[in-house]
Amino acid sequence: MPPASYPDCENCEAPCCRRQFMEDDNGWFTLADARPIYLEAGTDIKIVGWHRQKDGRQPMFECQAFDKKDLRCSVYEARPEHCRTYDCRDDDPDEWQARAHCDLARHLRMTELRAKVT
Ligand code: SF4
Ligand code: SF4
Repeated sequence: MPPASYPDCENCEAPCCRRQFMEDDNGWFTLADARPIYLEAGTDIKIVGWHRQKDGRQPMFECQAFDKKDLRCSVYEARPEHCRTYDCRDDDPDEWQARAHCDLARHLRMTELRAKVT
């Protein structure tokens, strides 16, 4: 189990925002499924990759609201519900398989690096 200080979203390049797969109990999301959620929040998404599933190709999304310069969500107050509840510390093996883009080891390395320069 990682230390309680994770996730350290500040200064994170946010793979959760930039390389995300979405799904619910009914299955994975197409662009048409996911896009309205982001449009309602005042942003949009684009497809940046694919994952082969038994029933098709699952798109990987990048959210356009992520500010790559300042490493921040630019629609933070209006961000969708799943953005408010997502936690990359989740250690459920099934969840991790669905969230292979979240690299907890990288967070650990970054925290060690930051500790050295502060
Ligand atoms: S990957 Fe984890 S630490 Fe980085 S922004 Fe997402 S939730 Fe925060
Ligand atoms: S709305 Fe904000 S928190 Fe949600 S995916 Fe986009 S940049 Fe990340």
